[in-house]
Amino acid sequence: MALRESEAFVLMTYPLAEADKIVVLFTHLYGKIRAVARGARRPKSRFGACLEPLSEIFASFYEKESRELVSLRSCELLCSPFERAVTPEGEAFLHHVAELVDAFQPLAEPQPPVYRLIRATRDAFLRGAPLPALAAYFEAWMLKLGGFFAALEACAACGRALRPEESLWITREGTPRCERCRPPLGGHVVAPSLRRLFAEMLKRPPGEWASLPTSRETAQLRHVLRQLLRDVLERELRTALLLDVSNSRT
Ligand SMILES: [Zn+2]
Repeated sequence: MALRESEAFVLMTYPLAEADKIVVLFTHLYGKIRAVARGARRPKSRFGACLEPLSEIFASFYEKESRELVSLRSCELLCSPFERAVTPEGEAFLHHVAELVDAFQPLAEPQPPVYRLIRATRDAFLRGAPLPALAAYFEAWMLKLGGFFAALEACAACGRALRPEESLWITREGTPRCERCRPPLGGHVVAPSLRRLFAEMLKRPPGEWASLPTSRETAQLRHVLRQLLRDVLERELRTALLLDVSNSRT
């Protein structure tokens, strides 16, 4: 049995038996893992407040070669997003980010760029960045790091560079097409103003980018992103709707 240690983000927890929890963690060094936290459902558990969604912890756990499920030995809270007073919208946002990471990341594959993205997004969240825009940024980058967005400046079919005033089509596989090469079915159109916002995403950190789009542009971006996510994941994310419902109240 090997003892491992890593910084990690808590994605979600599930109850297990009377006193325990299963914790899904995205660790910096080992990628996504599923761990048993013994006694975590007891009121005075040694895991304390460490297991909230998107808390960053220093986790140590035992790994058995033959088993997928590791055993969480201890964790130390490094940074909680709940340092900021969290509104229902904020909580929906944190769950959405956690669900996206869980949906995209396979078990036991380290992805340091994804880890850095979560950390930068969490920091922008703590500094009060607008949540719908921050969600759009995170969704687009999860697609990008998952290999679904190629460069959006040129048509992937004919190779022609797109003029700034042209709309772009994104196929269900995430590749860009010009008007002439657009797929007959199942593509998503991206207007020129949204193309510029996508391009800016790749250059700017989340907190800086999130102040650029208007709320109308953010809504349009998230509409395209939601369709792309549905194509890629072949299901609707549970938390996407929750986040929209929360935001429509504000
Ligand atoms: Zn083309």
